Amino acid sequence: MAPKLECVLLNARNVIINKIGFKKTIPLNERFKREMVNYSTDRLAEWANEIVPYYARMLHSYNEASHYPPNFTQCESKFGWCDYKRVCELDRNLREIELTANYEVAKAWDI
Ligand code: SF4
Repeated sequence: MAPKLECVLLNARNVIINKIGFKKTIPLNERFKREMVNYSTDRLAEWANEIVPYYARMLHSYNEASHYPPNFTQCESKFGWCDYKRVCELDRNLREIELTANYEVAKAWDI
């Protein structure tokens, strides 16, 4: 769970994050870390009252327009490259061909 979300849900200002390193190149004494993360009341309020609503409105407008333009800000994370990287790197007229040929349309998520 995201640390800020956990703080807001638990009405707390700090949370402990367990970091576990699986790479063998990381020394043993650095593979397991417990770190306390602290947030001020103002930062949590900003996150809950400004940042989350902003992105919720953006998601809503994307849904309304049925258009999701690539923004190229999160293409690589600590887990690797985004699964759609090869689509986004193509010219616009080739993306649908790539999607049709190499991706599968899954059942819509119904929460
Ligand atoms: S590669 Fe993934 S993260 Fe990057 S712009 Fe495309 S869909 Fe977004």
